[in-house]
Order: sequence, then structure tokens, then C-alpha cells
Amino acid sequence: MIIETYSPGETFQLGERLGRQARAGQIYTLRGDLGVGKTVFTQGMAKGLGITEAVSSPTFTIVQEYQEGRLPFYHFDVYRIGDIEEMEEIGYDDYFFGDGVCMIEWADRIRELLPDHVISVAIEKDLEKGFDYRKITIEGLE
Ligand code: ADP
Ligand code: MG
Repeated sequence: MIIETYSPGETFQLGERLGRQARAGQIYTLRGDLGVGKTVFTQGMAKGLGITEAVSSPTFTIVQEYQEGRLPFYHFDVYRIGDIEEMEEIGYDDYFFGDGVCMIEWADRIRELLPDHVISVAIEKDLEKGFDYRKITIEGLE
């Protein structure tokens, strides 16, 4: 599924729609260059899950947990991960195979830990289509 957005608001709304439809146990991976809109999308997703708390990137921790929504929401940023053992240390499997929704940025770095089925979201710019244009490709969402 490919969705094109032309403003941050539209990307937020797409995330919000996915958040409303999200189910326990789903793992979303999120890919895209710096400044492309990953945080905007994740904030929409959180809103759709019923989270009112401010959501930003988990800068100092691998995972940020939000418990106040319809389902627990686990936002991972594994960019700074040194090796896979750091994931074991935080008990990643309790998140991945638990009762919440995971959103993982830079998931390629922990590919060997991911289950076969994930929902992947990729956000790309295309400057020929304008500064605020984004192409959002979602795979694995049945
Ligand atoms: P990332 O988390 O991927 O580094 P952010 O979500 O923090 O990126 O920032 C995206 C930036 O791009 C914001 O300043 C946002 O206003 C801007 N932007 C412009 N157009 C869009 C769009 N269509 N979708 C999402 N963000 C957009
Ligand atoms: Mg971000």
C-alpha cells in the first residue's frame, strides 16, 4: 500500500488511522531519512491509540513505553545499539511478543531478532513533487 501525503498533518492523520486500527502483538518497523517525518507519523499513531502524553524520539533509552492508551505502545529507536545483547538486557521479547504494539525505528540493525511477520512503514521524500511531499509505503498490513 502506498500513500502520498502533502503536509505533516496528513502524515499525522495516517499514523492516527493506523493507531486506531492497531492490534495487540503487532510490530511496526519505521524507516526513513532524518527529517522525513518518522516522529510525526509515530505521534499520530500514539494519538490513534489514545495516548495523550507527548511522544518524541527515545533519545536516551532504547525503548519508550506508553501505557495510557487503548493498548500499550512501545517505541523503539535502536540506532545506537552496540550489539544484540543490549536488546536481550532490556528483555526485548517481552515487548515484541507481548500484548502491546511495537514501533521500531532502525529495525534493520536488529533484523535477526524480528519475527517473520512485521508491518513495515517506509517514508520517503521526492523533492520534484514538492518540499512537503512524502511517499509512505506500508507492507504487511493485511
Ligand atoms: P524524523 O523523525 O523522520 O527525523 P520528524 O518527524 O521529526 O522527522 O520531522 C519531519 C519534518 O518534516 C517536520 O518538520 C515536518 O513539519 C516536516 N514535514 C513536511 N511535510 C511533511 C509531511 N508530508 N509529512 C511529515 N512531515 C512533514
Ligand atoms: Mg524522529
